Amino acid sequence: MKSVVILGTGGTIAGTGHDPDRSWQYRAAQLSVSQLVDAVPELKGVPLEALQVAQIDSKDMSWAVWRALGQALQTQLAREDVAGVVITHGTDTLEETAYLLHRLVGGRKPVVLTAAMRPATAPDADGPANLRDAVRVVQEAARRGLGGVVAVLHGRIWAGSQVRKAHSSALDAFDGGGRLPLAVLDETGAWREAITPWPVSGKAGCLPLSAEPPRVEIIHSHADADGWMVQAVLAHARQHGPLKGLVLAGTGHGTLHQGLEAAVTQAVAQGVTVWRSSRVARGGVSSREGDVLAACGELTPSQARVALMLYLLGV
Ligand code: ASP
Repeated sequence: MKSVVILGTGGTIAGTGHDPDRSWQYRAAQLSVSQLVDAVPELKGVPLEALQVAQIDSKDMSWAVWRALGQALQTQLAREDVAGVVITHGTDTLEETAYLLHRLVGGRKPVVLTAAMRPATAPDADGPANLRDAVRVVQEAARRGLGGVVAVLHGRIWAGSQVRKAHSSALDAFDGGGRLPLAVLDETGAWREAITPWPVSGKAGCLPLSAEPPRVEIIHSHADADGWMVQAVLAHARQHGPLKGLVLAGTGHGTLHQGLEAAVTQAVAQGVTVWRSSRVARGGVSSREGDVLAACGELTPSQARVALMLYLLGV
C-alpha cells in the first residue's frame, strides 16, 4: 500500500488554548503535524508520513511559505511509493493556497488541503475528523486515478479553484462561491457519487514559485472611493519598487466608483496590469465587449491576486 504524506503548515487545526470553554481564545500553529496525526485513532495502521513545512497562522501566509510548500510537494509527488498528499492549513488563506496549487500542480496524484475552525483543545474540535477525511479522500482518489488539488472540509470535497471561506466562525465555514461541492462524504469519510466532475489542475509545476513574486495589491471600490488608494500605492511604488499589478474588488459585476476609475486609468498608463474582480460573494465578473480591464471570472479578489501574479510570471 502506498503512503499518504501529510505536509503541516500550522493553522487552527494545530492550535491550542488554555480554556476549553473559551475555544475562541487560542494560538494557531502550536502542535506539530505528527501530533495531529497521533490524535486521530482511525489513522493508526495507515501508511503515513508527516512532514512539517511551516508552522504559521495562515493569516501570515507568504510567498516564501508557498515556495517551501511547492518544493515539498514536488519532491513527495514524484515518489513512486506515495499515493498523494494532504496539506494541513489555516482556514484564513486556504482559498489562496488551494487556488495557487490548483494552477501549478497537475498530474495523476491527489493533493488535499484540510483545516479546522476550532483549535485542537476545543470540545468540538473539527480537525481530527477533517484530517481523517482528507487522508481517506487521498486514498480513494488515488484508487480511482483522480489527481488534482481539492479541499476536504466539514464532510465535503471542494475544487481547489473554487473553495473559499464563507463564514468567519461556523464549523461549516467553506463553500464554492455558489458552485456545488465535488462530493459529499459519509460518516466514515468515503464518497460514492461525484456531484460535479473532478477538476483538472494546471501543469506548470512549482518552479514559478522560485521566482521573486511580482508586487500585486488589492483595492476595493466603495462609497467615496476617489482613487486616493491607487495614488497612494503608485506614490509608494515610486520610492520602494515597482507595482506590477492591481486587483480591483469592484462593486456588483466588477464596476468601479468613477473616482477610482480615473486613478486606475493613470495606473494602467504607468504600466500596471489591472484586473477586475467583485466584492460580492457569488456570481463573479465576466468579460464584456470593449473591456479595458480584464475580468477575473468567479475568483475571489485574493484568488485573483494569485492569478495575476502567475500571469505576470508567465504562467
Ligand atoms: N487564523 C487561523 C489560520 O488561518 C484560522 C484558522 O485556521 O481557522 O491559521
